[in-house]
Amino acid sequence: MFPGSAGHHEHFCPTDGTLIGRLPESSPADVERAFAKARVAAELWTKTPLSHRRAIMMRFHDAVLNHQKDLLDAVQWETGKSRSSAFDEVADICLTARYYANSAKSHLATRKRQGALPLLTTSEERYVAKGVVGMITPWNYPLTLPISDAIPALLAGNGVVLKPDHQTPFSALCALKLLVEAGLPRDLFQVVIGDGPTVGSAIIDNADFVMFTGSTATGKLVAGKAAARLIGFSAELGGKNPMIVLDDAPLGRAVQGAINASFSNAGQLCMSIERLYVHEAIYDTFVPRFVDAVKGLSIGIGRDFSAKIGSLISAEQLEKVSGHVKDAVSRGASVLVGGKHRPDIGPYVFEPTVLENVTEDMMLCRGETFGPVVAIYRFHSDDEAVALANDTTYGLNASVWGSPRRARALARRIEAGSVNVNEGFTASWASTDAPMGGFKESGVGRRHGREGIIKYTNIQTVASQRLMNIEAPGSMTGDAFARTMTIGLRILKRLPFRH
Ligand code: NAD
Repeated sequence: MFPGSAGHHEHFCPTDGTLIGRLPESSPADVERAFAKARVAAELWTKTPLSHRRAIMMRFHDAVLNHQKDLLDAVQWETGKSRSSAFDEVADICLTARYYANSAKSHLATRKRQGALPLLTTSEERYVAKGVVGMITPWNYPLTLPISDAIPALLAGNGVVLKPDHQTPFSALCALKLLVEAGLPRDLFQVVIGDGPTVGSAIIDNADFVMFTGSTATGKLVAGKAAARLIGFSAELGGKNPMIVLDDAPLGRAVQGAINASFSNAGQLCMSIERLYVHEAIYDTFVPRFVDAVKGLSIGIGRDFSAKIGSLISAEQLEKVSGHVKDAVSRGASVLVGGKHRPDIGPYVFEPTVLENVTEDMMLCRGETFGPVVAIYRFHSDDEAVALANDTTYGLNASVWGSPRRARALARRIEAGSVNVNEGFTASWASTDAPMGGFKESGVGRRHGREGIIKYTNIQTVASQRLMNIEAPGSMTGDAFARTMTIGLRILKRLPFRH
């Protein structure tokens, strides 16, 4: 981590208030120095063989599994989430490290492209590391988001300067220690601590590319700053994600899927389902089963796997979630289950909550709650379900349950970057080979898959010409050249097009 000079910040555990540690905060000048250090390291790193970078990621994969207890403790300590949600993060960075370690070579290999003139021009596409990637991440997945997005950036030959959310710096720092022990050059990956407007802005001021994850409001500010510098950026933003349960859905699995998708990480998940649309033919069967299953969820703050639902991260988050529920109830929504703050379990614990009769005038109807709260609605036809699902400014994730062919056809009509058929969110998220990201106000760019690593490169075309230049030879008039070229273009059109 970079030794900041802007004072210290004390970090407390949200579930028991114990002091986790004091970390130095960075000033904008510190951020500039962190970039300079990472840049020097990146110049050497980008020349290392990909096989060397790959071996480090494979060692890191094993180290994460071997040290998972420490990582789980760190994640739970600074977020208050359940241990099973923390384990999702450990599993995710392993999946990502393995995927990109194995696939980077084919993604980054120089590709032959069609040349201008057959036989005379050869053209190739190369992927050149951007330099130093600036990363800004939120608090909800403090291990997964910084590390899984850093892995492809590093494999592509870049350095990284990360600003984690100031509430959750420790998980990423623990993972960074393992990366360095696995062989990553110490200066290549810098972590700076501080707030968004000052330190986050300084990241954008110095980066060659920005990888941002956070709210749509902040994403727009980041996009504006990146545009002013003409640097590329990728933004993974908020959502108000719908689930549709068709009348031929496998009911038991759909109930379980809705639980997992609505309440994983106590709903503090960008892909979380906050709108649940159920076909009228099964509504009266589905809803009581769903409510019963919610009543059976274990809530707790222990450092073991006994609780499914953990704490929210902070008083601010608790206020937002309970504010959304209070507002909805005061305007006529019915609470089918949950709805209460549970200080008897932990200071920021909120019950998993299901609401009915949610209407347009309520804050949570369209606004992202980012907590364990789902609104349930009835629909009458597939067309109506699609229209309701798409009636949002967001487009991050969606889920459709039903007979596979019908559900898949409907999934293709949803305006979202990922749509899960007969799953809530994990099927698309964990398909690391497939790109993830948002439509509409849910993001720009993609993580995972080829797109998730190529974005960290500048694409360069090297075209080589043999025997003659592509211009009129000295003795030829412009007119004669145009006539010759016209004949050539006609012949070219007749030749088989290979791509
Ligand atoms: P946020 O936008 O407030 O903060 C995210 C990060 O941006 C933090 O590190 C913060 O310090 C920084 N930041 C804040 N203001 C900044 C500025 N002016 N310039 C630069 N950086 C700044 O987000 P949050 O509320 O902490 O996180 C929750 C949001 O993140 C939700 O909307 C959630 O949906 C979204 N999210 C999206 C994904 C995804 O993959 N699409 C993943 C996780 C979270």
